[in-house]
Amino acid sequence: MTMINETHDPALRSWVASANLAGTDFPIQNLPFASFRRQGSDESFRGGVAIGDQILDLAAVARAGLFGGDAGQAVLAGAQPQLNALMALGPSVWSVLRLALSRALREGSAEQATLQACLVPQAQAEYGVPARIGDYTDFYTSVHHATNIGKLFRPDNPLLPNYKWVPIGYHGRASSIGVSGQQFRRPVGQTMPPGAALPSFGPCKRLDIELELGIFVGTANELGDPVAMAQAEDRVFGICLLNDWSARDIQAWEYQPLGPFLSKNFATTISPWIVTLEALAPYRVAFERPADDPQPLPYLDSEANRQRGAFDIQLQVGLETPKMREAGQGDATICRTSYRHAYWTVAQMVTHHTVNGCNLQPGDLFGSGTLSGPTLDQAGALIELTAGGKNPIPLPNGESRTFLEDGDAVVLRGWCEKPGAARIGFGECRGTVLPAR
Ligand code: MN
Repeated sequence: MTMINETHDPALRSWVASANLAGTDFPIQNLPFASFRRQGSDESFRGGVAIGDQILDLAAVARAGLFGGDAGQAVLAGAQPQLNALMALGPSVWSVLRLALSRALREGSAEQATLQACLVPQAQAEYGVPARIGDYTDFYTSVHHATNIGKLFRPDNPLLPNYKWVPIGYHGRASSIGVSGQQFRRPVGQTMPPGAALPSFGPCKRLDIELELGIFVGTANELGDPVAMAQAEDRVFGICLLNDWSARDIQAWEYQPLGPFLSKNFATTISPWIVTLEALAPYRVAFERPADDPQPLPYLDSEANRQRGAFDIQLQVGLETPKMREAGQGDATICRTSYRHAYWTVAQMVTHHTVNGCNLQPGDLFGSGTLSGPTLDQAGALIELTAGGKNPIPLPNGESRTFLEDGDAVVLRGWCEKPGAARIGFGECRGTVLPAR
């Protein structure tokens, strides 16, 4: 597991002035990766690193030939349209690149004049999905979400007996994953309305969000070769925000016996920026289980995981209705929580996923599952916040919502902050619901 080093020093300042502003998501201690190009251009997408309100263009850095050795190799890999080649290089090379970028972007760096010419303003950029995602797996790592949803779907039997032993997940759909700014049609499908004798067909009436984090796999493991807890995090490139849009009425009718299908695969939105595990090192916290709960089986347990396997990432969901947008009011916060409440860690997800020999590949994506916290205002889905649609959420302009309406936009935000460390953020993950076709 990555330890604190000189790149985390909260006193570091960058010659990119906007990176030194209080409250920026992208100070020099963060240095997350995305795939981008200039808006409206026919340029190739390429990798970039966020610094303040700018993007350091890795293709331009590669052409400038500033870095040699592992850092130079990593820049060449990062200059590709998607980040799979960089992800495949592994944690020691990622770390060498981070150190080189940190030193080159600091105040007083000899590389300032060269790198200045490699900056593109974020305001002029558009983003791509950062990796070719071969496989997408959605986990279910919040026991609070699992219990809340279980109560709604199975009042007599909310938390199934396997939950506290198995990191539950299902194989999702990679082709419909889009990057922040994604707009999608309200899904149409089959539902069984309460009390009805026959199913009906039409636009989803209970369209929901799921506040999740996305975990990008870096290095591969061979088919048949499980990844032990001690090596699990070495396989992980970084973390982004993820909204797993969910059609609850379709889900309720289709999910037994094999789990979610069309209720989930019409759209999934991720943030463009991937924050590396190394950047998150100051925000590691202990992985804790309630005293009465079973401890993880030995293959899912390690001392390092117990000591610092969890991350304290602050999370927030904003909802913007068309009326709020027309009035220029911005979005209203409907949920605040932290990733620290998750029941299973990133390392446990990797180890469990591969324990049967399943092979992960660079650019594979895990969803954390809806990250609801222990109290109702920390619930990461409308179905929980509204008690299954019974209690509408009041919005500041007098409107209210149970489920999403056409034109609604949802904005996820994430950040980490604490005394003695630089605040770092994930940027935004925004998606908008269009009317059904
Ligand atoms: Mn989900």
